[in-house]
Amino acid sequence: MIRINENFLKLRAGYLFPEIGRRVRAFKQEHPQAKVISMGIGDVTQPLAPAVIEAMHKAVDEMGRRETFRGYEDSGVGYEFLRKAIVENDFGLRGVSIDLDEVFVSDGAKPDTGNMQEIFGVDNVVAVADPVYPVYVDTNVMAGRTGPAGEEGQYAGIVYMPATAENGFVPEPPDKAVDMVYLCFPNNPTGSVATKAQLAKWVEYARKNKAVIFFDAAYEAYISDPAIPHSIYEIEGAKEVAIEFRSCSKTAGFTGVRCAYSIVPKQLKAYTKDGKAVDVNPIWKRRHCTKFNGVSYITQVGAAAIYSPQGKKQIQQTIDGYMANAAMIREGLTKLGYTVYGGVNAPYIWVRMPKGVGSWQFFDRLLNEAHVVCTPGAGFGPAGEGYVRLTAFGLPESVKEALGRLARL
Ligand code: PLP
Repeated sequence: MIRINENFLKLRAGYLFPEIGRRVRAFKQEHPQAKVISMGIGDVTQPLAPAVIEAMHKAVDEMGRRETFRGYEDSGVGYEFLRKAIVENDFGLRGVSIDLDEVFVSDGAKPDTGNMQEIFGVDNVVAVADPVYPVYVDTNVMAGRTGPAGEEGQYAGIVYMPATAENGFVPEPPDKAVDMVYLCFPNNPTGSVATKAQLAKWVEYARKNKAVIFFDAAYEAYISDPAIPHSIYEIEGAKEVAIEFRSCSKTAGFTGVRCAYSIVPKQLKAYTKDGKAVDVNPIWKRRHCTKFNGVSYITQVGAAAIYSPQGKKQIQQTIDGYMANAAMIREGLTKLGYTVYGGVNAPYIWVRMPKGVGSWQFFDRLLNEAHVVCTPGAGFGPAGEGYVRLTAFGLPESVKEALGRLARL
């Protein structure tokens, strides 16, 4: 008899975005004339940069000639031209030295943040922020690192660290030992960023407890404050305890193209039951090359074009446009009397609800009365109750229109 992996049965049904989709569809069915504006889902709206398109066209032509055709990529961890561009631009220019064999090119930070846990023992204790990007939690539930979900949707066995206005949405390390910590800065959903001093505390904690930090920097391109670190490796000692995830999705509009990478430093160790230190880098390489067969050549050529002088300029223009939306949202809502967080070094704006208003209640009101879609904070965890998340990825004219409707509410 074939048995199911019962860990999957622990997953809570009604994931956030399907529920939002259901409510929006029902509303549109009842109000077919309504012009609904989405400020909820975190997909981008601007097309790929011309430098990326040009590079990809050339790569397509290469694939059409026998002399330049490429099949499987030999290394399986990403073409050297792309890993070199990553190492030199994303790290070298910030004074961080990363070796080429510490870079693993992939098809997304979602799969990377989801898959990385697999090479660590199932008896490790996991800590996440609350609210949290749900992938970190759900993949650990699937792996069997948790008990069932409680009433508020939090799983037994996971250490939840509230990210609140009081701690600036940057949780402190817990007072007990955990083994795997997920940190995301700039943060989805709160839009918060961590300072060097705050990250240094985490690195110190991980070193002391022989823990590993999964550092999701998918939104680092949105940091404009020069004092805010883009990489956890800007903190001394971080290479001994941290894995970093980056993505071209929000940096360069690759949500549909798919290209990302992970950094697994050679200094990073994990331990056997009897305390023997094991290098993590070759184990991730083994896992990556066994279960993944590389990102397409055309995509990697496109990703490398992000690092050309033209590419850099073009993607920055797009990011500046999104951040102008963020400023417009922050300013508009502040004028209307809302308390807002984020939206300065991150494309997410975290809006505090008036006292006594629940985040799903506000979602329904916004949808029904202003025909605007937001994301209820409660969907990211109990500490998200009383907030909604807005994203800056829309078109400027839609953002303006949405703010006008909010003002008339
Ligand atoms: N990490 C965070 C924090 C995200 O918010 C997202 C996407 O919304 C991802 C990772 C996914 O990135 P990718 O498109 O590279 O899979």
